[in-house]
Amino acid sequence: MESIVGYMEAYDYENLLLCQDKALNFKALIAIHDTTLGPATGGCRMWQYEHEMDAIEDALRLARGMTYKYAAAGVNLGGGKAVIIGDPKRKDREPTFRALGKFINRLGGTYITGEDVGTTLRDMEYIRMETEHVVTLPTYLGGAGDIAPMTAFGTIRAMEACCRRVYGSDSLEGKRVAVQGLGAVGHNVVGQLHERGAVLVITDIDPDKVDSMVAKYGTDTVDPEAIYDVDCDIFCPCALGAVINDNTLERLTCKIICGCANNQLREERHGDLLEQKGFVYAPDYITNAGGTIYDTDRLEVGNVSHERGKERVSRIYQNMERVFEIAERDKIPTYLAADRMAEERIREIAEVKKYREEL
Ligand code: NAD
Repeated sequence: MESIVGYMEAYDYENLLLCQDKALNFKALIAIHDTTLGPATGGCRMWQYEHEMDAIEDALRLARGMTYKYAAAGVNLGGGKAVIIGDPKRKDREPTFRALGKFINRLGGTYITGEDVGTTLRDMEYIRMETEHVVTLPTYLGGAGDIAPMTAFGTIRAMEACCRRVYGSDSLEGKRVAVQGLGAVGHNVVGQLHERGAVLVITDIDPDKVDSMVAKYGTDTVDPEAIYDVDCDIFCPCALGAVINDNTLERLTCKIICGCANNQLREERHGDLLEQKGFVYAPDYITNAGGTIYDTDRLEVGNVSHERGKERVSRIYQNMERVFEIAERDKIPTYLAADRMAEERIREIAEVKKYREEL
């Protein structure tokens, strides 16, 4: 990124705030991309960046990603992100996160924060001491608690929609699924797939996690690097980004790629290649929105309801179907169709709001 203002102009950003408290050695950024649908919402990342510009670019890029994620998920929130520049292991958590809370509070609800890489639920509690504009909270503070099971459920719903498209039925019974990564989301995906009668092949770089899943469900396992060669119907990446690349594309034999991992395509052209090769690819920010949908549900309604939250997450199935419709209508790969779905919703709701204001 050469020019901050130029970048903001190119991708339609609203605000970028730089925050500093010298005495606390506190430096942070709050990026607000688009508030058409509602307050800019997105987690707070804490990271030691090599260059200041890297932090700015990260905050801006992540904020825009949130705009698309909410818009495509049917949630009435805009996209934002906070970045604290610093060692994610720094010990002075209370002053650091209360300082951020103070700056967020000044925005009067235009930006709502949450957890992200380098921050924890405990940090959110500190932010909450200074502002009410934080969504990811433990249940005792009115939050939704652990959202990973809902992220997993959303991924399963997307997978069911993919199965319907490929096999004419959304049943996962007997489908052979290769799951990469058995962490917070992955182990829940495995459990929910097992319940639905899928045949599982799993892997993780942590042998303890593999052993625990085998003991529970009796699944087959492979070495981490062999997961791309497994003969299966569905490849389910739940670990790292960039797993769809020139190397793996030559090896995958599945019909469907649907997992929760962020940024699965190494480059956009890999999304085009997936399409050309006939894979059905579920774009990651559609599949992994479940936790976010569940977590933010209370912002629209005012209280946490497991039933209502789960029902909303379940609609990822219909979101996936809409992505397929747009892909077919515009003859574009699914990763682009997801973007188009989000952009169309923002455009339409902007019109509705204009009309409302005119009344
Ligand atoms: P996690 O850190 O709990 O789990 C990741 C797992 O992947 C770990 O068990 C790790 O050992 C394993 N792993 C790492 N490298 C691997 C490799 N090369 N091969 C196999 N396994 C490997 O993370 P998580 O919260 O479960 O998130 C998983 C993915 O989903 C991430 O990409 C994350 O960004 C995305 N995601 C998570 C959530 C959520 O609710 N937690 C929401 C949206 C997106």
